[in-house]
Amino acid sequence: MRYTSTRNNSIRVTAAQAIAGGISPEGGLYVPMEFPQLTAEDIQNLVPLSYRERATRVLSRYLGDFTEEEVAACCTAAYGERFDSAAVAPVVKLDEGCHVLELWHGPTCAFKDMALQILPHLMRVSVEKTAPGQQIVILVATSGDTGKAALEGFRDAPNTRILVFYPVDGVSEMQRLQMITQEGDNVGVCAIRGNFDDAQTGVKALFTDSDVIAALERNGMRFSSANSINWGRLVPQIVYYISAYCDLVAAGTVAVGDAINVVVPTGNFGNILAAYYAKQMGLPIAKLVCASNRNRVLTDFFESGVYDCNRPFFTTTSPSMDILVSSNLERLLYHLSGENSEEIAAMMNSLKTERKYSVSPEMKVQIDAHFVGGSADDARVAKTIKQVFEEKGYLLDTHTAVAVAVYEDYRAATGDTTPTVIASTANPYKFTPSILAALGCESEAAPYDQMQELCDKAGCSIPEPLASLNVKRVRFTDVCNNDTAGMQETVYRMLELR
Ligand SMILES: *Cc1c(COP(=O)(O)O)cnc(C)c1O
Repeated sequence: MRYTSTRNNSIRVTAAQAIAGGISPEGGLYVPMEFPQLTAEDIQNLVPLSYRERATRVLSRYLGDFTEEEVAACCTAAYGERFDSAAVAPVVKLDEGCHVLELWHGPTCAFKDMALQILPHLMRVSVEKTAPGQQIVILVATSGDTGKAALEGFRDAPNTRILVFYPVDGVSEMQRLQMITQEGDNVGVCAIRGNFDDAQTGVKALFTDSDVIAALERNGMRFSSANSINWGRLVPQIVYYISAYCDLVAAGTVAVGDAINVVVPTGNFGNILAAYYAKQMGLPIAKLVCASNRNRVLTDFFESGVYDCNRPFFTTTSPSMDILVSSNLERLLYHLSGENSEEIAAMMNSLKTERKYSVSPEMKVQIDAHFVGGSADDARVAKTIKQVFEEKGYLLDTHTAVAVAVYEDYRAATGDTTPTVIASTANPYKFTPSILAALGCESEAAPYDQMQELCDKAGCSIPEPLASLNVKRVRFTDVCNNDTAGMQETVYRMLELR
């Protein structure tokens, strides 16, 4: 099993090299050169297994230079008691033909845990194989959930440091509290002036900053990434779509071979890309519905074939989806272009210089065969949360509500009644003020105290990691400028580089 780069397809690396390296040297993303195939029998054999066992089977197919024992050890370490559901990623029936895949039972109450609880283990094995003895510096730009989930995953991991940058104006109060109180001896957190795209651009520049790289080398360190561009982030996400399908088979909702649709609330395009990869492996997925909030770059892209970031950026009640540049789309385009890395490099260059690109008519046909886009604004999200709670007694978070609203529109427009799995990406308590407002409960209380109000209203319990936030010590209050000098200074200081 070999990997290549979206911008230079003569590159050949192993899974361990892709995971330890993060991004390809010329700026491309690592992609598998082929997709391991799941036969109907393979799927049937996964049905009676636990999440850990399903993960071990699926990941072994991709991690060619890991032994089966290494993969099993990573899965056991990741998907154990840190999840508050024995199923790890349970499927809940919302309606006839409509199911919610709850991806937020991990320690930070958001779907990023699904990948970030296992990434440190995959990374440790990968570094042992490719660069033994080196200290890894994980650098993260976050729109909120990634940062916290990465900090929790990597805290006190041996031979690892982790630095997280979050946009001052782009995370919820609860997300901010979760990050600034992070425990662990190897962690650093810094706010950055600007929005998520600014933070992501700044972090990308650090990765290739020759001064910083030289300073790291002098100190026996090297960068890697825990952002969703890292293959080690993406590959664990393929598992839960396959697992959800197995759960539907076990429940008798579908028979092996029956098609399902998948709806994903999308930001950086990692989660939905994993569903596409599951489809490429042979999982019977018909449509992939890509749900966006008011930042509907992807919706417009799926309609027109033009990806255009020349537009205003909106702060919404689903901040983890407030993104204009969806990095993982590059991987999809690479596969759909017939693995044409020159074409992809040209498109990404156009994105850099013009902030837009368009796909060829041939590629558009391919895209339409798999994907459909849709968007929902904040008012619609609030209405959806209230309606689903009142009619079905199920409390959605703001991100998942975007997906549910887009699914309702899709179903109304097409009449498509294929059994559907909607990815649910956060526990509603993570976005308490927006949820309370959606339910019509105006509150003056501080965000932390509003959780009790939501609990009184909705009757579901506050998850422990959020309930204990107010007794944690604040450790990180720095704010840095979003420029080379500001970010360099922060890295040197936090890593104590000489
Ligand atoms: C990260 C995140 C998303 C977006 O996922 P992508 O993989 O970036 O598309 C959606 N919802 C929540 C709650 C998230 O944390």
